[in-house]
Amino acid sequence: MSKLNQPNRESVTTINRDGSRKILHPADVSGAFTRWRRLFAAMLVGVYVLLPWIPINGNPAVFLDVLNRRFHLFGLTFAAQDLWLAFFFITGVGFSLFFITALFGRLWCGWACPQTVFLEHVYRRVERWIEGDATKRRLLDQQPWSFDKFSKRGLKQAVFAIISLMIAHLFLAYFISIPQLYAWMTSNPKEHWGAFVFVFIASGIIYFNFAWFREQLCLVICPYGRLQSALIDDDSIIIGYDEDRGEPRGKAKQTGIGDCIDCTRCVQVCPTGIDIRQGLQIECIGCSNCIDACDAIMTKLNRPKGLIRYDSQNGLAGKKKRILRPRIILYFVLMLIGATAMTLSAMQLRSANMNIVRMTGAPYFITETTVRNQYMLRVINKSSEAKTYTVNCNAPDQIFAMEGNEDGITVQPMGEEVRPVIITIQKENYTGRFTLELSLVAPDGHSIIRRDAEFIGPNAELLRQHNAKNAASKVTP
Ligand code: SF4
Ligand code: SF4
Repeated sequence: MSKLNQPNRESVTTINRDGSRKILHPADVSGAFTRWRRLFAAMLVGVYVLLPWIPINGNPAVFLDVLNRRFHLFGLTFAAQDLWLAFFFITGVGFSLFFITALFGRLWCGWACPQTVFLEHVYRRVERWIEGDATKRRLLDQQPWSFDKFSKRGLKQAVFAIISLMIAHLFLAYFISIPQLYAWMTSNPKEHWGAFVFVFIASGIIYFNFAWFREQLCLVICPYGRLQSALIDDDSIIIGYDEDRGEPRGKAKQTGIGDCIDCTRCVQVCPTGIDIRQGLQIECIGCSNCIDACDAIMTKLNRPKGLIRYDSQNGLAGKKKRILRPRIILYFVLMLIGATAMTLSAMQLRSANMNIVRMTGAPYFITETTVRNQYMLRVINKSSEAKTYTVNCNAPDQIFAMEGNEDGITVQPMGEEVRPVIITIQKENYTGRFTLELSLVAPDGHSIIRRDAEFIGPNAELLRQHNAKNAASKVTP
């Protein structure tokens, strides 16, 4: 690297002074953290690929069936009516991220974020295989177009495009399931042009991001990086440079200087192009490349590792370190509340759901002897087999009849059935509006869910007038 990147308040290291993009070519690095990160990334890619394939309770482990408004997550099925649970889920995940960030800084960004996993461990690997190491890639950038450059760049972009298509298809599989994806892939695009266009656009965005935009997503788009400074404090674990030990910098053979020999290896391997020796910066995604790079230099010089290391800012400054701090306790309590609320709410989930709404039109009907209310019943079967449910009315004795439920309500797997239900009571039993309780009963006889419905009728004066009219019509010859 000819010139070190020097970020300042007006600019980031990947933008030249004239505003043009500076393409980064991070150098290869090896070491303990790199090995662990590769292993972890391979595991994560395996998980991303396998989740739509692994069946749990008859559905893929993660299947966000938006078209049918059913969401299957690790054996639990959520219908659109259960979406209120998403509030607890999102806040729980948010507070967990706050907690982890306050403790360990941007561990998520460097180790587990799909952007880092796919960019560092898939796309950049392909780039290295085809174009060579960072020096060769930089030279290739500067070369005029030749057959060699054209073939290497063409092959790289073709492989990038294929990987982007695969990721887009995998992404789609989370929403439509693998069998449906296969069916669409093997049929005419005209039959499912919406999905075809979606995959085309998604592949384009993925390709643009990983082939060109790259670290800019972390630097200018991702809000988590911006939040980092608000979430961490001087005791959070970050990746930092031990200034007391490293400064003043100088040549390896010089005496009376610090341990940093100013070799710039830590800068060369950085995927966001920063110099960690300038202190914690918003661009640092916590990838640990600079730790491995510097440790390798220290090992060669027979000096202790850890000039750049995981430590808190207090630790790097030689001050006392604290793990338990007010913000850690606060985030932990909030995380615990979120997790408890989520667990308790998830325990309320049932294998079926039922909703009752009053039918439009007249609110009630009166005959000579009865008052009648009509409802629309929606029964949702969230299991993977067809089931016949019955609906019981746990109402006071005055119920005379319930129509619409005589043979039970059969609902297909993951399906729903909408059915009118009429409830009738004897007129002399009606003394004013009251609440009915309807319960949905599973084929094995246990009650799954209960819902209230209001039964309404005429007020006392209207009822009296109606009875008088009926009596008069009877005596008229
Ligand atoms: S890799 Fe280590 S020795 Fe080399 S410049 Fe960075 S901090 Fe200094
Ligand atoms: S400074 Fe180090 S940890 Fe931060 S992004 Fe660069 S190489 Fe990764």
